[in-house]
Amino acid sequence: MQVKEQGDYKMPDWKLEVRCTGRDWEQKQKPCYSLLIVEDGDIVKRSCYEDEINYGCICPVCKCFTEIPEKDIPYNVKKFAPRVASRGSDGYSKLSDEEKKLSENL
Ligand SMILES: [Zn+2]
Repeated sequence: MQVKEQGDYKMPDWKLEVRCTGRDWEQKQKPCYSLLIVEDGDIVKRSCYEDEINYGCICPVCKCFTEIPEKDIPYNVKKFAPRVASRGSDGYSKLSDEEKKLSENL
């Protein structure tokens, strides 16, 4: 194949406002509820269960992990998201459905 003309397509900048809530995750720290502007390089992924990947960001203020729904993140951002430590090793673990129900009823 020949390249007739080299393209210089760049992905548009991506940003998302996210509230630091530590949503659905049990972690050492309490979330600080700051409003964050998340850019593509801020997204990380982590697995809690095998075959499951969760995307989110780590708050620069309190270091809490806040999960972001996968559908809210463009494919190219997810693709390059670095993996961070998974369950247990750093105090992060995802709440099970049962634990979630309990925390909602408090
Ligand atoms: Zn925070």
